[in-house]
Amino acid sequence: MNELSERFETHEPGDRQADEKLRCDACPVMCYIAEGRTGACDRYGNFGGRIVRADPVRVLDYAVEKSAAVVPFGGEAWDGKLVNTGRRFVTAIGAGTTYPDYKPAPFIVSQEVDGVDLVTVVTEGIFSYCGVKVKIDTDRHLGPETATVRAQGEAVGHVTTGEYGSQMLSLGGVHHLTGGSKSEGRVTCDTLLSLCNRKPVELSIDGGATIVVEAGKPPIIDGKAEHRMRVGCGSATIGMFATQWRGLVDEVVVVDDHITGVVSEHQAGKVLGWEATGIRILGRRSTPGRYFKVSEPGLGWGGTSISDPLAILGEWNANKGARPGLSLLMVSTTGEQFAYYELDDDLKPAEKPFPERLRKSVGLIEENCEPAMCTVLFVGGAGGSLRAGVTENPVNLTRSVQRLRTYVTVGGAPVYVWPGGGITLMVDVTRVPDNAFGYVPTPALVAPIEFTLRRDDYLALGGYESEIRSVDDVMARGGEYLNERATGSAGTDNPWPPLAQLRRMAPGGLP
Ligand code: SF4
Repeated sequence: MNELSERFETHEPGDRQADEKLRCDACPVMCYIAEGRTGACDRYGNFGGRIVRADPVRVLDYAVEKSAAVVPFGGEAWDGKLVNTGRRFVTAIGAGTTYPDYKPAPFIVSQEVDGVDLVTVVTEGIFSYCGVKVKIDTDRHLGPETATVRAQGEAVGHVTTGEYGSQMLSLGGVHHLTGGSKSEGRVTCDTLLSLCNRKPVELSIDGGATIVVEAGKPPIIDGKAEHRMRVGCGSATIGMFATQWRGLVDEVVVVDDHITGVVSEHQAGKVLGWEATGIRILGRRSTPGRYFKVSEPGLGWGGTSISDPLAILGEWNANKGARPGLSLLMVSTTGEQFAYYELDDDLKPAEKPFPERLRKSVGLIEENCEPAMCTVLFVGGAGGSLRAGVTENPVNLTRSVQRLRTYVTVGGAPVYVWPGGGITLMVDVTRVPDNAFGYVPTPALVAPIEFTLRRDDYLALGGYESEIRSVDDVMARGGEYLNERATGSAGTDNPWPPLAQLRRMAPGGLP
């Protein structure tokens, strides 16, 4: 990938050197490829004087038990035997594309399910309009909202909203892929490809942290692996655990960059009869026992910048309940940081050894935190040209998808299709088979996409009837790109797409 620009080789017709090579027309780059070589994306090659898709078409078997381990596709060619005759699915991984868009999709496969004939239209889509949304489970401040996110020094996206225990990043998109410098587009494409294929990527945020992101793995923030996501905000933590602390300690503060909670003032404490303690929090009081902006955001306690929690406390007020010996627990929203204090004769908190009686409640906070991980959703728009490979009247496909008459998958994984115009889909990359995504150096990502619908619906929307084939025929004869077929277990909790679509269309079926 990093050598793309050097390997980007195009020629005008009539070029002598080019005439000795074969032209691949599977994307706008139009590589001329010498015998035994592959083109710029490594996905197509010139073998035996023909343009061949270099990877096999992957066919998933859904008949095995859901608990079965994923069988890696190691390039084992189909040996002519059917692994399972029931629930196979020809994915678009390795299928080839419809580019330059005047031709039907590489595979249009029919299967009968419960007496209903269904068709799956299979193609590798070239997505110039695509990106990833990344959810990073952490309390720590990764960078200011809208700050630029960089990979290899290039801008590839930005920090977006902070969600409940997670920070969201938006990476890629057409502006980074096509709207910046050549290097920005290339690095953006490289970054998206790695993230979608579940490889680790180092990202740095302007004015913030450096993070290693890998789908399904804990984030590594400034060199330290994150372990837990918060049990809730400081206020919610108070609500959840106030009864545990009653009678064991006089005051509890849950330190949180967003909403710091104070049990004696909080409604949960009031209901339990908690007495006032004369505590004062240095922050903006929102409602009783709930404080905003106790600190600057950072990598410290509860996503604040502080390492000493006493920094968020003001003077204690003897007229409102403060007294020597009053006990105080301070804890973060993950339970990873905690400390115990007692007020001295001057009403100053003095740290004391952490008492055994409070360990259980702090442990309970930690126990209730889920493991922190990175989630990567691929977001792409299936545009006009891709749809032309499905039907002669592309807008019909959009309408069919929007009306739930057509079920969309990416490498067999179910997707979320955004309401409104077009076919803008999102898919969790951990549900997609390994190495399902590719690229072309235009730059754009290549993603498998399959459309499953009833055969009669397909024909009604202008489908290519003469191109419809059986799975057995696909297995036996392959397609125009002459590559092998490789079978493997679906190996995940993804439903078998033809059955999922049938159920969805049944009366009362869920969308
Ligand atoms: S980049 Fe890949 S798909 Fe595009 S023309 Fe070259 S070999 Fe074919």
